[in-house]
This record gives sequence, C-alpha cells and structure tokens, in this order.
Amino acid sequence: MRRRKKPAAGGSSRLFRGLRVLVTAGPTVEPIDPVRFISNRSSGRMGVAMAAAAARRGARVTLVHGPLQVPVPRSARITAVPVESAREMRDAVIRRAPGADLVIMCAAVADFTPASVARHKLKKAGRSSLRLELVRTPDILAELGALKRRPFLVGFAAETRDVARNAAGKLARKNCDMICANDVTEKGSGFAVRTNRVTIHRRGMEPVRLPLQTKAAAARRVLDEVARMWRG
Ligand code: C5P
Repeated sequence: MRRRKKPAAGGSSRLFRGLRVLVTAGPTVEPIDPVRFISNRSSGRMGVAMAAAAARRGARVTLVHGPLQVPVPRSARITAVPVESAREMRDAVIRRAPGADLVIMCAAVADFTPASVARHKLKKAGRSSLRLELVRTPDILAELGALKRRPFLVGFAAETRDVARNAAGKLARKNCDMICANDVTEKGSGFAVRTNRVTIHRRGMEPVRLPLQTKAAAARRVLDEVARMWRG
C-alpha cells in the first residue's frame, strides 16, 4: 500500500487536506438497445455526501458517477466524471486509482449487463416474450483490491439479509479495508432516502454500528473512522 503522509495533529480535518480521494456514486446503466436499459434504485445521495464531506475536509476529490438524482456539489475541490455503464465506470476508476490515496466505492454497480446491445430498437411485433441474456460485469472493488500498490479501499454493501455475514465476506473477498453495510429493507435506510444507518466492518475489529442519521452525517462518521484507522 502507498505510504501516506504522516497525519498532522489536530483532528481528522487536517488529515484529509490535499489527499486525493476517488469516490463513486449512483447506479450504472446497462444498455439493452438504443432506447432501453437495466439499472437500479440508487439515487447517488450517499456517494455525493461522501464526496462533499471529503472535499470539505480539504481533499481533492474525483467523483465518478452514474446518472444521479441529486446535483454534484459545487466545489473547486470536486471533479465530476460522468459515466453510464459498469464497464465505463471500471475504466474511469482503474485509470485514476494509481493517483488516489483513498477510494470510496459508493456506486451501486450493476452485477449483470446484457450480453449484447441491439443496434436497433427491439420490436414487440410477432413476439409474445423476450429473453435477455445477461453476463457478469467487472467487479471494480475486487480489481482494486488485487492491485499490488492499492489505495485505502472503502466499499459499501447494500443488503437485504445477513448483513454482517455478507459484509465480512466482502471485506475478505474484495480485499478492502472497510465495508460500510446497510440493510436497505430497514426504514430510513438505503436507496433514495436522505438518511442511512451504516455499520462499519473492518478486519479483526468489532463492527461499529452508527445511528440512523442523514447521509451527510453518516459520511462524516465514515471519514472519522478512516482517520482513526490511519492514526492507529
Ligand atoms: O458485491 P456487492 O455488489 O454487494 O459489493 C458492493 C461493493 O462493491 C460496493 O462498494 C460497490 O461499489 C462495489 N462493486 C464494484 N463492482 C461491481 C459490483 C460492486 O466495485 N461490479
């Protein structure tokens, strides 16, 4: 892992000053034909909140994002890189990862994409059903985790059951430093709402369960926990 500047005393705000932080946000959009696509319910709020929190602490942030339902925060410290598909997001992230100190993967990356994209709009005439073949997308976080010199890696995991077990599995499988897990079936948590209840998982440490709070407040707490790990 890249050697980090020695953290300055005086709170985690100083720690992030000048740091290069790469954040992903929003869903990806997987085209079926020129007018249709497969996507998911991610609004991009959590990723945008992470980018804003890091920029407020003085980091230089690159925000690689799919189509968002919220605006990109106006900040001289945030550079937005809009993408659509998982493949485009992968290429944008992998290209920029060597220059990053910290990568926060908030995006809800599609796990499957159509095996081929129809050149023309698919017609319903003469068809009573339509079969779509889907293939796996690249796992961006796992690819980052396998890099020899990798940045500090934070993943997010939206789960509907077995949250703790799934989060622990992802930490190991994707070789990341932190997984922020949330149960999207819980009220006030998950997609398209302004609040989130995140539990932070790290290897060899007890999970830290954060309260239900705004995504902005949750983002600040996640950065505090990153800072605590660096100090440790
Ligand atoms: O495996 P799962 O999708 O639940 O993992 C969630 C984490 O992995 C998130 O941080 C997400 O951004 C990242 N991910 C990825 N590439 C994928 C799927 C998920 O980077 N194809």
